Amino acid sequence: MFVSDQFESVARMIEAANRVVALTGAGISVESGIPDFRSPGGLWTRYDPAIYATFESFVNDPSKFWVMAAELNPLLENAEPNPGHVALAELESFGKCEAVITQNIDHLHQRAGSSDVLELHGTYRTGTCLDCGRRHSFEEVKEAALGTVPACLDCGGVVKPDVVLFGEPLNAPVLHRAIELSTSSDLVLVIGCGLEVFPAASLPTYAHRNGGQLVFVNVACTAFDDIADVIMLGKAGEIMPGVVEAYRRIAGLPTE
Ligand code: NAD
Ligand code: ZN
Repeated sequence: MFVSDQFESVARMIEAANRVVALTGAGISVESGIPDFRSPGGLWTRYDPAIYATFESFVNDPSKFWVMAAELNPLLENAEPNPGHVALAELESFGKCEAVITQNIDHLHQRAGSSDVLELHGTYRTGTCLDCGRRHSFEEVKEAALGTVPACLDCGGVVKPDVVLFGEPLNAPVLHRAIELSTSSDLVLVIGCGLEVFPAASLPTYAHRNGGQLVFVNVACTAFDDIADVIMLGKAGEIMPGVVEAYRRIAGLPTE
């Protein structure tokens, strides 16, 4: 089936569902200029996460992480929400997206207008001193970094951005709510997620086991495609506005 033929059937699934949530991964922000990490040429092909992005490696030598971050930070700073992010905010305004569970750290869902965003992997916008716990804004981290490892503005300790590194636990209340939402949803829109990182990759399974439907939007296959009810193959920033447009028609809302 062509993607354009799927717009209407997915829009009808959204209309019929009482509880819709979205699970998003790095793929939804690729069209905002932030590359995902695992695709060919991605960050993990150039920086071994075992060396650059584990909590242990950060504690042993934070300078490595900040070398990688120096490449990523300008992309994060300059990125703007794309039509994929905007489409989810629109669905929320129709009462058709209760929350966005995201693996992303880029804050683009909030900037697009989604009000309930669960940041499973934290955020790059703040940092915390590993010694005294002082929170730092992104601007403070940047000011303190001056091209090297940022030092705490209070005690001079090492500041870690509030992103979840490998080997670090996820924020428990955020994870529990993500599980509760996934388990009780009628429909989960899984957008730009490679479903290779757990526990995020388990969330669609929880929905599926409890009778929830799954729509996958991705440019590539995932290991969980067999449990998807619909797979829309293509770019999130092109597909999601088509879904929203079809939903507007079905729901009798003004089309743009
Ligand atoms: P991931 O597992 O979510 O993989 C990205 C997925 O997006 C892949 O399946 C890819 O096929 C798909 N994709 C690529 N372009 C797409 C598009 N235009 N439309 C739809 N799908 C598209 O994430 P990852 O790259 O393995 O990153 C690992 C972790 O690193 C993430 O979970 C996140 O915590 C962090 N990360 C965050 C950002 C961000 O905040 N924007 C970016 C990269 C990585
Ligand atoms: Zn400190």
